[in-house]
Amino acid sequence: MHPAILAVLYIALTAGPIAIAAIEFPARRSMINELASGLGLAAFSILLVEFALSGRFQAVSGKIGIDVTMRFHQLLARTAAVFALLHPFLYRGHLFRRERPWDTQGLESFGLDIAAFSTGLLAWILILLLVLTAIWRDQLPYRYETWRLMHGLGAAVIVGLVAHHAWTAGRYSGQAPLSWVWVGLVALAALTLLAVYIGRPLRRLTRPYTVSSVRKIADRTWELVIAAKRGRGVPFTAGQFVWLNVGHSPFSLYENPFSIASAPDDGKTQAFVIKEVGDFTRSLDRLSTGTRAHIDGPYGNLTIKGREADGIGLIAGGVGIAPMLSVLRQMHKDSDTRPAILLYGNRHRGQIVYEGELATMSRERPLQVVHVLSEPAEDWDGRSGVLDSATIKDVYGFDGVERWLFLLCGPPGMIEAAESALIELGVPASRILSERFQYD
Ligand SMILES: Cc1cc2nc3c(=O)[nH]c(=O)nc-3n(C[C@H](O)[C@H](O)[C@H](O)COP(=O)(O)OP(=O)(O)OC[C@H]3O[C@@H](n4cnc5c(N)ncnc54)[C@H](O)[C@@H]3O)c2cc1C
Repeated sequence: MHPAILAVLYIALTAGPIAIAAIEFPARRSMINELASGLGLAAFSILLVEFALSGRFQAVSGKIGIDVTMRFHQLLARTAAVFALLHPFLYRGHLFRRERPWDTQGLESFGLDIAAFSTGLLAWILILLLVLTAIWRDQLPYRYETWRLMHGLGAAVIVGLVAHHAWTAGRYSGQAPLSWVWVGLVALAALTLLAVYIGRPLRRLTRPYTVSSVRKIADRTWELVIAAKRGRGVPFTAGQFVWLNVGHSPFSLYENPFSIASAPDDGKTQAFVIKEVGDFTRSLDRLSTGTRAHIDGPYGNLTIKGREADGIGLIAGGVGIAPMLSVLRQMHKDSDTRPAILLYGNRHRGQIVYEGELATMSRERPLQVVHVLSEPAEDWDGRSGVLDSATIKDVYGFDGVERWLFLLCGPPGMIEAAESALIELGVPASRILSERFQYD
């Protein structure tokens, strides 16, 4: 979906309920009470649309990229939390239902009963917890999968609580047509969960893979190859990633995102380059060939397909080389004659993957491979240092670079430095695509 269409859709879904309330029920209460209601309505609609921004919908992240999608998800979740937290404190008047003969239209009292108050209070506490546990996820003593389950279930419970609160206590949400708008949005959020946790696993059952090889290819880095058991496997574009599940049921939450490092034209096999960091990635040495695997995808927009460019700049830090390999391998197969420069940073030479294959490709096509090592051995005769602004400007500071397309993948610090350096060189932001291998 085009980013402009996505933006219009987002605004319509999140601002729509407030607009309906304003049109259908002209404000007659004090400004502060209308603001309190408005914040509550906005928080609920943002919360509901968050389900579609979970990174699992290619219609959303395919054009804007997974990084922008997840940043948006985080930023909007924090905005919704602030709105929700302020919502009860702004009201001026009597919260609970009382007989107030002179206030027949409820302009000074809000008619909360104990059930509506309880669901509102519980949702208020849970929203705070949901956002804080997401911000400090890495500090929590839980596995990523446990956190993900708690995050998804927590969000679903909050939606249930807020829906009850809005329908029973909401001055506007409790009446048609707004009450029906909430029914529609809640149903949409429920559908996204059903699609991700039931629909797609069912589809994965029909497209099984098996591990065909696993081998160590560099320091703490592995190559894992899977092969489709039937047909050619899931089609993808060079540079995209999938959620990979190895050895578990397709309904399992044990799945991790990895970029496909092989070329789409490689047929039924797909290769991954995986760095050891945690539970799954450190268990690859125990993985045997023939183990069943499933993939969900492809996702992401770190691709050159369909994009006009005089040349292709690829900047990879460490295992960020994975999507670049796919792009370079496909360019090689397509006999793409556009010039390309791969700038590939590592700490030491033992971390470089496929050094020989990259050297061969650079002899056979207009590809220049520039290795940069931050802790080189004494006999290293290549570049040394980090992938900072100076190195990037030195390698790509030539005339016409503004018409090149750049793909960036690696640690967040490297990506930020590369983005600023390229923009200073005159490369338009629209020609720079980047992917961090982590969500925050
Ligand atoms: C779009 C994308 C593409 C990636 N491509 C590659 C690649 O080609 N090669 C590579 O080595 N690494 C890649 N990564 C990183 C890789 O996903 C993590 O290193 C891996 O999931 C760690 O899993 P673990 O069980 O070993 O470690 P854990 O200790 O479970 O997790 C370590 C960290 O990895 C991240 N992570 C773990 N599980 C998930 C999940 N299901 N969804 C999202 N993030 C998760 C979290 O930030 C977590 O804190 C990519 C990440 C993303 C977001």
